[in-house]
Amino acid sequence: MEAGIVGLPNVGKSTLFNALTAAGIASENYPFCTIEPNVGIVPVPDPRLETIQQYIKTQKVIPAVLQLVDIAGIVRGASEGEGLGNKFLSHIREVDAIVHVVRCFADNDVIHVEGSVDPIRDIETIDTELMLADLQTVESAKDRAAKSARSGDKEAKARLELLAQCYEVLSEGKPVRSMSITDPEVAKRIRGLGLITAKKVLYLANVDEDNLSGEGDLVAKVKARAAEEGGEVVPVCARLEAELIELDPADRQEMLESVGLTEPALHTFARAAYKLLGLQSYFTAGEKEVRAWTIPIGATAPQAAGVIHSDFERGFIRCETYSVADLEQYHSEKAIRDAGKLRVEGKAYVMQDGDVCHFLFNV
Ligand code: GDP
Repeated sequence: MEAGIVGLPNVGKSTLFNALTAAGIASENYPFCTIEPNVGIVPVPDPRLETIQQYIKTQKVIPAVLQLVDIAGIVRGASEGEGLGNKFLSHIREVDAIVHVVRCFADNDVIHVEGSVDPIRDIETIDTELMLADLQTVESAKDRAAKSARSGDKEAKARLELLAQCYEVLSEGKPVRSMSITDPEVAKRIRGLGLITAKKVLYLANVDEDNLSGEGDLVAKVKARAAEEGGEVVPVCARLEAELIELDPADRQEMLESVGLTEPALHTFARAAYKLLGLQSYFTAGEKEVRAWTIPIGATAPQAAGVIHSDFERGFIRCETYSVADLEQYHSEKAIRDAGKLRVEGKAYVMQDGDVCHFLFNV
């Protein structure tokens, strides 16, 4: 699962991407991640990892990570091949969700490609390109589906109807995600169409250093826009975050306090992006390591075990689990077990966010 970062030139994408990836993640812990220059592996800070460590002394702590792709090159006219045009579009088709960076900072020293700071116009500029690209996709898919539907293919017929609805929405200048589809069958069909504007979006409002909480008109407008689509906005000052990441922990803490933040805004952002991708964490906790593992919301216990190793999924017998809150209450795994609070879950168990697990399996 990965999210792609988009935005007009000069809105702060590179500043943000560099700040996000500067932490440097030990890649041997994350063999499943793609390592390419435009792909960033970003830790997802989780206070529960700190809590677990208070009770289980361990040698190593490994956080969950988020995979982000920097998708450069979108400009007005991209759907017609301007800028990086089609290359950019093929990258964005592959991601699971979109992070849209919008400029809400003033700064006359930084040129705006459209001449003024107007986040809504910028969102519309990018959305227009993405909707035009989707219209092209829908048109060619319609021709193909119509052919198959004529020869009696029922799935093609359903697809053709859906394509017609998408066409109508896009022609009205609305993204496909605005159709707010709840039927899982239809949602699956939509995913199969590979439409860019069907993907969920998180807006990152790149704000001024003196407006870190994201008050004021510009961010309010972005929030209203996001709300229409059921999306979220995270205010971040990319320049400040880039400075913060350069500092050692003590200085960082001091700087955070001086600007009135309790933690870097990028932490909030990483958690929001994780949620946007429909992901959650469970933990394994022992003397060797305490680790957060990433699973899709709704994953079953065997699927969760499979994230550690495919053999664990195949040979899954059962899982012993407790919550971080149990650990806070009883202070050790043994005490949790003695109190009868250790749950034993079988194959059908749907994992809850923050479960601490031991898997038992056959090899
Ligand atoms: P990109 O083209 O979207 O990747 O934008 P860059 O990250 O290269 O940023 C463009 C310019 O805006 C650079 O000069 C950055 O230093 C500046 N910039 C980025 N973020 C901020 C910010 O939060 N505040 C201010 N004042 N300038 C920023």
